[in-house]
Amino acid sequence: MTQDGNRESGIGSRESRVGTRSSPADVVIVGAGATGGWAAKRLAEAGLHVVVLDAGRPFGPEDFREHVPAYSLPLRGRTKAVIARTQPQQAAGYPLTEWNADWFVNDIDEPYTTPPGQPFPWVGRMRIVGGRTHVWGRQSYRYSDIDFRSASRDGFGIDWPLSYTDLAPYYDLVERYVGITGINEGIPQLPDQQLQPPMGFSCVEAHVRETLRTSMGRTVTQGRTANLTESINGRPKCHMCGPCERGCATFSYFNAAYTTVMDAEKTGRCRLVTQAMAAQVLMDPQSRRATGIRYVDRRTRTHREVHGRVVMLAAQAFESVRLLLNSASAQDPAGLANSSGVLGKYLLSHFTGFGAAAEFPAFHRRADANGPRKPTGLFVARFRNLEAGKPDARFPRGYGYQGGGSTEFAQGLEGFGADYVAAVKVSGRTSVSLGGFGEPVPDARNQVTIDPNAIDAWGIPAVKIDMRFSDTDRAMMRDGAEQAAEMLEAAGGTNTRITWAPRWASHEVGIARMGADPATSVLNQFQQAHDVKNLFVVDGASMPSVGYVNPTLTMMALVVRSCDYLLDSLKKGNV
Ligand SMILES: Cc1cc2nc3c(=O)[nH]c(=O)nc-3n(C[C@H](O)[C@H](O)[C@H](O)COP(=O)(O)OP(=O)(O)OC[C@H]3O[C@@H](n4cnc5c(N)ncnc54)[C@H](O)[C@@H]3O)c2cc1C
Ligand code: SF4
Repeated sequence: MTQDGNRESGIGSRESRVGTRSSPADVVIVGAGATGGWAAKRLAEAGLHVVVLDAGRPFGPEDFREHVPAYSLPLRGRTKAVIARTQPQQAAGYPLTEWNADWFVNDIDEPYTTPPGQPFPWVGRMRIVGGRTHVWGRQSYRYSDIDFRSASRDGFGIDWPLSYTDLAPYYDLVERYVGITGINEGIPQLPDQQLQPPMGFSCVEAHVRETLRTSMGRTVTQGRTANLTESINGRPKCHMCGPCERGCATFSYFNAAYTTVMDAEKTGRCRLVTQAMAAQVLMDPQSRRATGIRYVDRRTRTHREVHGRVVMLAAQAFESVRLLLNSASAQDPAGLANSSGVLGKYLLSHFTGFGAAAEFPAFHRRADANGPRKPTGLFVARFRNLEAGKPDARFPRGYGYQGGGSTEFAQGLEGFGADYVAAVKVSGRTSVSLGGFGEPVPDARNQVTIDPNAIDAWGIPAVKIDMRFSDTDRAMMRDGAEQAAEMLEAAGGTNTRITWAPRWASHEVGIARMGADPATSVLNQFQQAHDVKNLFVVDGASMPSVGYVNPTLTMMALVVRSCDYLLDSLKKGNV
């Protein structure tokens, strides 16, 4: 793969000149993760010349670490204390481990701030081509019109400027390429998908699924996950080794670095510039058009510019909005594309950390340290507030659960020596856990701004994240924890424990939202800035609500739809 800050794909060819001042690219894309990868693939395969800037380093075979044993690591994989000296925020999140710490930002070099007493976990900040798709949980579901019309249903926020019918063909296209395993259930709050065969259930999972269907009418299904159960595009099926967040030498889960980004590069029309920290969108004040991006080469700290006919931001919601806010000028004092004043506002993410776990003695069995490790478990579909116009008085929207069954060694047994070892071997404890993901409603106070007192190591002003739980969020989490316990007990669980550690998931959206009205939104339905026709924001920042399921599949479907719109508009000379 040719991914080097100064080297260019197609050296000596026309592509090597793409994006210089004398020869602007067709499109400059910022970010080579879930959304930027798709933009690069779709546009380059359609014949456009694209330049992709990514702040991260190149990705290579040395990054496949799923089979690296803990004993070969300096800290034996047992502590993050040393790592936390330079990566305190990232190390506090579960995705960072000793195996993959070098994929994440150094928090000292790249700070963000929060108001006193109001921490926000901006974890999963990646500095490697592929972005968060290296460590994502891969859970992939469609939104439905219940999500796209949530504002009309309950009065909070704004409706999406598009419907399920508009997005369905793009979901189909993305799913067929990504490869998602699961089961279609035929219920409106969980639309059917283009799925590969399921990975299946463990015995206890199958039991919980069936019992809750008959006793409580709840839909418990396999977590739909972007791990292959059938080979596609030369990517073999998953061999269930388990730790996907350390990489995958067989490319068996979806990671932009070895799928969309590679496809884009193969066209010879995509130039990937790594270690390129985008700092500002360049504008022509006369025409009010974006002309390119100013970026800092992270290794040399030199400032460079890359020019294009169109600019697409796909750097993850906080980073794209940071760029727009840092592009403020005399013409756009409140930030670029911010005539509505809502840029940075209405930050949304799922709240999580609530649920329950219980033991299922009927399924206790011998634990197995070497058995297959299925990289997905159970998903429980939303069951609250599905009927329009009749929201629960406690909270207007809904939540789902992700979890699964597992059998662990009973290391807490009494005794010692050979008897203890023998007892531990045969006394595996089987339990099921359900962790909730809830949908908050948009609130203008939840926002991201530029902190005038914080800059990163490259001199770029950093963001301040101001996010709080509301009373309705807490009410939903309480209900979700109680319902999880009730369901597990209804299925025969014992020794039930409520889990309660509220936090936000890494699903940040909403801060440059799409809408039909330019007075209350930043982008139109094609993620095109109302204020600047050749500027697009194609990551989660564009989503006016976050639904109750994981958002990345929807982000990817949206960006492909926007690319098709852009291609059509370029043909018609409308952009
Ligand atoms: C631990 C974890 C688990 C998750 N699990 C799930 C899940 O199960 N299902 C789901 O749907 N979603 C999940 N997500 C969320 C998902 O990963 C993101 O929604 C998705 O990757 C966002 O895509 P993106 O293109 O916006 O950003 P990314 O995929 O993060 O890509 C952004 C890219 O932009 C680059 N970049 C950033 N700033 C700049 C800059 N200034 N200049 C140049 N380049 C820049 C970065 O280096 C990166 O490569 C998870 C996230 C985390 C952290
Ligand atoms: S569990 Fe499957 S997808 Fe994950 S790293 Fe192992 S083989 Fe790859």
